[in-house]
Amino acid sequence: SFPPEAVPQAPEDPLFGLMRACKADTSPDKVDLGIGAYRDDNAKPWVLPVVKKADEILRNDPDLNHEYLPIAGLASFTRKAAELLLGTSAPTISEKRVASVQTISGTGAVHLGALFLARFYKIHGANRTVYLSNPTWANHNQIFTNVGLPIATYPYFHKETRGLDIEGMKRALADAPEHSIILLHACAHNPTGVDPTTDQWREIASVMAAKKHFPFFDCAYQGFASGDLDRDAGAIRFFVEQGFELLIAQSFAKNFGLYGERAGCFHFVAAPSPETAGTTTRVASQLAILQRSEISNPPIYGARIASTVLNDKALFAEWQENLRTMSGRIIAMRQALKAKFDELGTPGTWNHITDQIGMFSFTGLSEAQVVKLRDESHVYMTKNGRISMAGLNTRNVDYFARAVDKVVR
Ligand code: PLP
Repeated sequence: SFPPEAVPQAPEDPLFGLMRACKADTSPDKVDLGIGAYRDDNAKPWVLPVVKKADEILRNDPDLNHEYLPIAGLASFTRKAAELLLGTSAPTISEKRVASVQTISGTGAVHLGALFLARFYKIHGANRTVYLSNPTWANHNQIFTNVGLPIATYPYFHKETRGLDIEGMKRALADAPEHSIILLHACAHNPTGVDPTTDQWREIASVMAAKKHFPFFDCAYQGFASGDLDRDAGAIRFFVEQGFELLIAQSFAKNFGLYGERAGCFHFVAAPSPETAGTTTRVASQLAILQRSEISNPPIYGARIASTVLNDKALFAEWQENLRTMSGRIIAMRQALKAKFDELGTPGTWNHITDQIGMFSFTGLSEAQVVKLRDESHVYMTKNGRISMAGLNTRNVDYFARAVDKVVR
């Protein structure tokens, strides 16, 4: 059998450990701000009305079966997924510069991209380091490490301003060896909720172009962040317009509420060049081989739901409405929380609560304060002070603000 020195006990995933502790807490005051999943004003998961409709349509289709999807997934889904990111009339699509593969949600897309880079990013000498924002979604570290790619970080979050450390970030990108792989969050940065402004994206792109860096966008919150699908894809589209060749990992977990269905896509976008068509075809052929050995073919249900919505004008419009419901409620909670801190005269500045965007807010609370909030007020959040904004609602936002007020005094 395997001795402990060969297979040591691994620590529990901190986020899922937090979820367990929260579940076990029976206090009626309990506030769950841990996991990044949308909750409605009753703190309940929300099945998007448009997803219910799509489900109904699928269930009434007599021709529906459970055959395997092709290796690259459901084409009607991946095509629309690419359009969603790049724009419906994007030259990248008409010029066949995009290779898309359906994946096991966003995680699977990041993994497939990492695997592709590990295997094929050997064109620029030895530098294969992937630069991640500090901090980043914790899973990035292990996904890239798992495929043998070295990782490094670039400064991102500015502790004093609780905004973007743009100067630190640009300096690190300028100092990184040419052709480095740079992982960027397309919008609604996890865990900080801090996104570059349009001007800052320009500056980042300009440094990256000068150093011939290779962008890998992780897009887990399109439409969920601002409520506007085009706006949330703005950074990706800008980089594409600048002529970058790049990778995109796309998740439909949050914006469709399809968390457990694992609907996602990986896209390779070739730079405009005479060999583009050839590159895209060759990349697609290798992605198919990688996919085959990893999962054979992707899961069908979530992709069918998303495809049904993405390919129907009326359902698409309804989805946009659902997106505005979710993003709007989160923005309203940001405003309510900030207003309550103002009213209580809570020490410190809290503008970052309303400046930050998306599912999360980096509150600036210390680990000791986080522990105290849990022990004294039954408030659950990750120890880095990140809160899932979707866990707040009209009933608990005042309670949460008062609990925070108490620990920061
Ligand atoms: N990338 C980021 C930055 C995320 O925040 C998430 C989800 O939390 C994901 C990727 C992938 O999520 P999923 O695999 O559920 O699509």
